[in-house]
Amino acid sequence: MKIKKISVYSFNVKLRSPFRIALGTSITSSGYLVRIETKGGLIGFGEASPSSKILGDDMKSCLETLRSLANELVGSDIKSMEELERRIAKVGGSPSARCAISMALWDLWARIHNEPLYVLLGGARDRVETDYTIGIKGIKETVEEALSLVKMGFRTLKIKVGEDPKKDVERLKAVRDAVGDKVNIRIDANQGWTYEEALWVINQIKDLDIQLIEQPLPANDLRGLAKLKARSEIPIMLDESVHNAYDALIALKLNACDVINIKLMKAASIREALKIAYIAEAAEIPTMIGCMAELQVGILAGINFACGLNVVKYVDLDADLMAEQRLVSVNTIEIPYRFPLRSPGLGFEDKDINYDLLSKEVEVTKD
Ligand SMILES: [Mg+2]
Repeated sequence: MKIKKISVYSFNVKLRSPFRIALGTSITSSGYLVRIETKGGLIGFGEASPSSKILGDDMKSCLETLRSLANELVGSDIKSMEELERRIAKVGGSPSARCAISMALWDLWARIHNEPLYVLLGGARDRVETDYTIGIKGIKETVEEALSLVKMGFRTLKIKVGEDPKKDVERLKAVRDAVGDKVNIRIDANQGWTYEEALWVINQIKDLDIQLIEQPLPANDLRGLAKLKARSEIPIMLDESVHNAYDALIALKLNACDVINIKLMKAASIREALKIAYIAEAAEIPTMIGCMAELQVGILAGINFACGLNVVKYVDLDADLMAEQRLVSVNTIEIPYRFPLRSPGLGFEDKDINYDLLSKEVEVTKD
């Protein structure tokens, strides 16, 4: 089935409240929706969520790569995902752009084969439980938000830390006190601590039943992370240190983590994300599926990925819930669960998309 048209739309949606992490504060979710149409009339969708701090791309470089990929791929036959993914990788450039194109092609691939994407990716289950992330804020605000999330039905909280070790510990103690012992708490320092600070925090929070510590040290300090892992009773999860399968192999070789956080945007393609997942499975360690600032399309791809594979043990797919508006009018949440749609591919159609939020940036056609 040949690709007839590739269109790219930009969006910039406000978040319900500013989201602060150790690397900076976001007030909007900006990105691109990719729409790929085949000659047979099937349509696949993908989403790019660029990030200068984590992915090294931005709206401008992402659009450049999307334009190159649209020119490269229009007119191509969707016969082999292996071949298409190799061509995407060869173009290089912005990881989030490559991911959006890969996502739209996998969506089409599943639609061609008339199955929901998660079934083609392995079909392990039809729903997964997500956490909800609390950004860095004061103790009182953190506790209030934690209590309101638990009241809404979330059973796992991911708390952002990494700005000030002493305040981090105080906030975590206050949250554990407030929510009791039935709620899971995982924390993410986004590279914010030094080795000594991380060790001090781990010692201070060892009785708080913290499920995971994500990226306590800078991404490139794998030796420090390995040392920390050897001394920590709390499992260490790597996020910014592991973008692709090569990074996963190195991290595992150095024994630098207990869990890997896979993000489709970091992997820059669904195929690369699958490679990381299978490497983790072979190494007998679990993975998390996380997200950048994606809206519904990227999050739905993440849900499908998580539902495809049992090695995805932890799920952090909440970014779309933080935005003021919805890119796609479909429901994929029943707190605390997220579920894929039952129709082929990602499962939604043109009519479900809120085109009012979108501005057309690129359109490449070939008949
Ligand atoms: Mg993280």
